Amino acid sequence: MIDPRQPMSYTSAQSGDNYRNWWPHPVMTAFTDASIDELDRFARDTDNVFNMTRGGYVLATRRDDITAFERAMQPGIDVGIYAGAAVHEHFPALARDIRHAIHIRRGGDISGQQLGAWMLEQIRANGGRLVRGEVTAISRNDRFVLDVSGANDVKADAIVNAAGPFAHRVAAMLGEALPVKNVFEQKVAFEDRLGAIPRDMPFSIDLDEKHLGWTREEQAMLAADPDLEWLTRPMPGGTHCRPEGGAHGQWVKLGWAYNDKASEPQEDLVNEPASDPQFPEIVMRGAAAFLPALTPYIETPPTRYSHYGGYYTMTEENWPLVGPMQADGAFMVAALSGFGSMAACAAGKLCAGWLCGTPLPDFAGPLSAGRYRNAELMEQLRSATSKGLL
Ligand SMILES: Cc1cc2nc3c(=O)[nH]c(=O)nc-3n(C[C@H](O)[C@H](O)[C@H](O)COP(=O)(O)OP(=O)(O)OC[C@H]3O[C@@H](n4cnc5c(N)ncnc54)[C@H](O)[C@@H]3O)c2cc1C
Repeated sequence: MIDPRQPMSYTSAQSGDNYRNWWPHPVMTAFTDASIDELDRFARDTDNVFNMTRGGYVLATRRDDITAFERAMQPGIDVGIYAGAAVHEHFPALARDIRHAIHIRRGGDISGQQLGAWMLEQIRANGGRLVRGEVTAISRNDRFVLDVSGANDVKADAIVNAAGPFAHRVAAMLGEALPVKNVFEQKVAFEDRLGAIPRDMPFSIDLDEKHLGWTREEQAMLAADPDLEWLTRPMPGGTHCRPEGGAHGQWVKLGWAYNDKASEPQEDLVNEPASDPQFPEIVMRGAAAFLPALTPYIETPPTRYSHYGGYYTMTEENWPLVGPMQADGAFMVAALSGFGSMAACAAGKLCAGWLCGTPLPDFAGPLSAGRYRNAELMEQLRSATSKGLL
């Protein structure tokens, strides 16, 4: 492994660490199911050193009619659907206007940092080595030769481009372009001193578009400012919330991946211009619309909180790129968007399969760059109403 940073300290340190097998397409369901199978196995093997939970995901909506959602549901996904009063019996923190709650049971969270630390131990125990430095150029004669800043050149028979938001730069060193973009998404973690969020609440997501609930005066003031006018328009669904730190913790995480503008990744994430100082208030307003006990925090924001973010490195169709690059012997694990923590185990195993030439699962072809040669699949993905983006 070659990395100028401490492993898991860039995008992976920003992850919400949530996982689920709910996707609008069976390929992504099979892929994440395979990854969750591995996580389950590792949790058993390690006495759950990475605190894997299985509270599921709750998708909440004010819609009366969820038949379109049910029709799009992949067979085999274990869900519970609650309507009317049953929603509030099972999920009492949700706002009274929520009419349906869809509980995706194969979901929960992990500690990605603990999992990564354990994996690093396995790598070292199996003879792997960590070289601290940045790959700045790649050439090829009979083997790859990697220029590494601050370290000796590294020679390799095979390489894997797993450079996260910088994967396109590493690909460019091989003369290749990747169809990926980087979109900065933010989170807030705060100390819930009011105890607004039940500690056993599953990861909960508001599926509906919403207005942010400004007063008439606030609305008029924002509408008059061209930079802030967008805050008066309907915002997309996807506001999410979960307790962080287990039953006895007091912290809560909020997120909302509403940014859709691509940016060039910054070396230091705190310098990202798309990091929005208003995000903590925006996400709190969005979350209070479906978890009303958070409402007091709009007027009196939490005093202890952390606002952070990272890049969703994604293809247009929001599927990853795992498998061979064009150069013989070069592979990639890239474009893991907002699902790289949950998909990491399957993605790593899949890439190892490509590299070692062992039998591959059915999802291998569609998740590799080879899918761009399948016009029918690409048309299906481009016209899909949901890309499973949360
Ligand atoms: C706000 C946010 C919330 C998220 N929430 C979730 C979630 O709940 N669940 C989930 O499953 N996923 C989530 N994700 C997605 C997940 O975090 C990412 O998909 C995952 O961390 C990507 O991992 P990675 O190893 O590809 O990239 P990174 O963690 O960025 O690692 C890439 C590494 O490559 C190194 N590198 C780059 N260029 C070079 C070079 N030239 N030479 C050597 N090394 C190089 C970097 O230093 C870095 O350490 C979230 C992401 C964000 C931003």
